Amino acid sequence: RLTVEQADRLDQKVALLFIDLDRFKTINDSLGHHVGDGLLQSVAVRLAQTIRAGDTVSRLGGDEFVIILSGVESADEVAHLIEQRLIPLIREPHEIDGVNLYVSCSVGVAIFPDDGREPDELMRHADGAMYKAKGSGRDNFQFFTPTMNEKALERLHIENSLRQAVDRDELELLFQPLLDAHGQYTVGAEALLRWRHPELGLMPPIRFIPIAEETGLIVPIGEWVLEQACRHQSAWRQAGLGELFVAVNISALQFRQERFLNTVANILRTTGIDPGSLELELTETILMEDVEANIRLMSSLKAMGVSLAVDDFGTGYSSLNYLNRFPIDKLKIDRSFVSDMLSDPTNLAITKAIIGLGHTIGLRVTAEGVEHEEELCILQSVACDEVQGYYFARPMPAGDFEKWLAESVGSPSLS
Ligand code: C2E
Ligand code: CA
Ligand code: CA
Repeated sequence: RLTVEQADRLDQKVALLFIDLDRFKTINDSLGHHVGDGLLQSVAVRLAQTIRAGDTVSRLGGDEFVIILSGVESADEVAHLIEQRLIPLIREPHEIDGVNLYVSCSVGVAIFPDDGREPDELMRHADGAMYKAKGSGRDNFQFFTPTMNEKALERLHIENSLRQAVDRDELELLFQPLLDAHGQYTVGAEALLRWRHPELGLMPPIRFIPIAEETGLIVPIGEWVLEQACRHQSAWRQAGLGELFVAVNISALQFRQERFLNTVANILRTTGIDPGSLELELTETILMEDVEANIRLMSSLKAMGVSLAVDDFGTGYSSLNYLNRFPIDKLKIDRSFVSDMLSDPTNLAITKAIIGLGHTIGLRVTAEGVEHEEELCILQSVACDEVQGYYFARPMPAGDFEKWLAESVGSPSLS
């Protein structure tokens, strides 16, 4: 605060640098706190070497540091200092206990008075810029920009209103049919979440699911989705619309909750649906995170009778070694391979290979994102089991989906 007041008096700028070490947690967890502490001390020494007399370095706690540079002439001068001195100095090896460790850092910068006059505001803005630096691949620096602030505010707004979305009944499930690739009759439906935001309109999941994951809100939201999806499945059966399965997307955080297994069991009990009519879609990334624990959890789900599918298959990195050990039923080939299949031979080869691989280990294979008849023909010729995509139907509100089912009951959905 003192620096800011002085600068104001002298009509100078002050730069606030928010510095966070990249992947410090990994070093700390794998090499021990003793080594972690040594590294933090070494970093503090290096940071002190980058500044001039009158500037300050302080540690905020954890692996976060703040530098205050006074008497700054221009943003360029700050950029130069970070790029030419600070970042290279941190990148140099740090000798801790006779071992050389390498770290990098991400830096966010806010400048007084341009980016704010209050110390709190400057801190917030520098912190936001630091996150942007992390987001753009770490080991770099970013200056605060007003659009960054708008984005942060929008995010905050979404976060706050998302907390009430379930209670206010603003969430809605759409259903997209999955069809048998050969007979082309509906075998199931994937539940896809939407949020009818009072001011921002109908929001697609990519705009709010990442926020729901970061804030942990995905857990109650995911439970709501699971329960609603099962209720709809039960309604379709009772209305004589067919024995369809309902597929539900499960996020990593939800899957890792200790109570996940119980939640599924409770929902199956309260909705009374046949466990075999519930399919959980998990991504490869979720599976590979803690293989042994996942195999145990998945085996318990299988024992309950629930089906398991690997979503977006081909985009993460599954070890084929493990794939065989997971008690899964189905692979869903990622949309990107299917949609480029006709123009890109590599994607066609990947699609065929996934189908072959899946069949070899006894799994069903679904292709999602089918938009054209030619794609369907190819998929049929390579014995793909199920198809899903705009060519058949877009995700629809529950009412429309029921109409769609009623029209296609007993006959192939498409002639
Ligand atoms: P996903 O699981 O890969 O879902 C398929 C996405 O592909 C859906 O987008 C669907 O509308 C879209 N799609 C289907 N057929 C076609 C097609 O022929 N062409 C094209 N271009 N797109 C097609 P949506 O509904 O926007 O969902 C996006 C993602 O959000 C989903 O990807 C899933 O990862 C996530 N998501 C949706 N609902 C939930 C949910 O309830 N819980 C969780 N955790 N994630 C969800
Ligand atoms: Ca999915
Ligand atoms: Ca998918």
